[in-house]
Amino acid sequence: MLEQVEDSDCVICGACCASFRVSFYWGETDLINPGGVPEALTEKLNHHRVVMRGTNQKNPYCLALQGEINKQVSCTIYPQRPTPCRDFLPGEAACHQARRQHGITPKLTEICA
Ligand code: SF4
Ligand code: SF4
Repeated sequence: MLEQVEDSDCVICGACCASFRVSFYWGETDLINPGGVPEALTEKLNHHRVVMRGTNQKNPYCLALQGEINKQVSCTIYPQRPTPCRDFLPGEAACHQARRQHGITPKLTEICA
């Protein structure tokens, strides 16, 4: 049985921000979209797409992530985060994958349930 993960777990966890390449259309950046993703925190992937700095490497770790994984974390650009971050849902398969990658064990309540 999969661990149940809720929105409130994210402020402790942060595993997904340090597990995947976060790429998106460059037009989401504040270069042309006021209030968009800070361009300075991105790097070019190809003609159409950029990535969050730090996520296009063997051990991804988004530069916008603050804090310590599995203790207390926050996204320093939360209101300006890109689409893939907005679409990522706690409890989806990739969430469980990221948590496993970081050795985050299921909550005791779930083990005992
Ligand atoms: S891996 Fe899941 S629980 Fe952890 S921060 Fe991402 S969405 Fe939240
Ligand atoms: S932009 Fe924020 S939510 Fe998205 S990966 Fe980076 S730290 Fe996580």
